Amino acid sequence: MRDGDDYIVNGVKAWTSEGHYADKMFTLVRTDPDARKQAGISFLLIDMKAPGVELKPVHMYDHQYTVNEVHMTNVRVPASELIGEENKGWDYAKFLLSRERGMVAQSWLIRHDLENVKTYARDQRDGEGSLYDNPTFRKKIAKLEIQLKSLRWQMQRMLTEAAPSAAASTAAMKVQGGEAQQQVSALTVEALGQYGTAYFPNHEPGVEFDLDQSPYGQDEVSAFAPDYARGKLGHLMFRRAITIFGGSSEVQHGIIAKTLWGY
Ligand SMILES: Cc1cc2nc3c(=O)[nH]c(=O)nc-3n(C[C@H](O)[C@H](O)[C@H](O)COP(=O)(O)OP(=O)(O)OC[C@H]3O[C@@H](n4cnc5c(N)ncnc54)[C@H](O)[C@@H]3O)c2cc1C
Repeated sequence: MRDGDDYIVNGVKAWTSEGHYADKMFTLVRTDPDARKQAGISFLLIDMKAPGVELKPVHMYDHQYTVNEVHMTNVRVPASELIGEENKGWDYAKFLLSRERGMVAQSWLIRHDLENVKTYARDQRDGEGSLYDNPTFRKKIAKLEIQLKSLRWQMQRMLTEAAPSAAASTAAMKVQGGEAQQQVSALTVEALGQYGTAYFPNHEPGVEFDLDQSPYGQDEVSAFAPDYARGKLGHLMFRRAITIFGGSSEVQHGIIAKTLWGY
């Protein structure tokens, strides 16, 4: 609601990743209550320290604190913090979302994790040889390598502007990259053998970990797990969310169908 030189904002912004580190937050707020659906929404920059802004952590099942609910009660936001034109916020958001989706694919991360999987698998005994020699396991690696190659080609195609639609390309990259990240995490845990079951809420290698603080209690595997096994089970849990945030895979399929084929 507009009040002189300010907007007064009330409501909850659910799912605000890393909001506890932020100084400011982009928010889509309804500025025209009579407009329908995506019309009548504006893009406002809100100061996280403004009176009336309250953060509540969302408890995730990997026990990390990454996501918040932001509750806003009569928050005064100067009209100078409006981005672009009033009521055009959804247009700007769509543009930003298509870029965000391309970033979520993170092919470099998949490549990095896949190289680690190979190293862990070579060290993991499997019958007479190593897990890396196991044809079933190698097939899973090969499948991911093919996906990774295709993802990188898509990315290069987009950067050279040869792709038919940025929205459809980034939607496809998000689906493929998100699924590949989930798969490479599952392979990582598999390749680590028993150490794959060690849970560490702290991702940082080399950082002291207090087993008594572990939400799953003290166990032998965690006590003896090497540094490189840290956080891998946590990654596997967190990455379940990749095919949800930034728009679920079903929504991405819809964007691809609509922008490329008009369905
Ligand atoms: C870990 C995490 C971090 C997040 N961080 C942020 C953040 O920082 N900022 C932010 O703004 N948001 C964030 N989000 C929110 C996220 O973007 C949304 O949860 C996501 O876009 C899904 O929207 P939704 O929750 O409204 O679910 P919906 O879109 O309503 O989906 C609910 C279900 O319906 C299905 N569905 C929806 N539409 C269709 C359709 N057309 N066809 C078929 N099926 C459909 C979905 O697949 C899903 O199963 C985060 C979410 C998570 C899980």
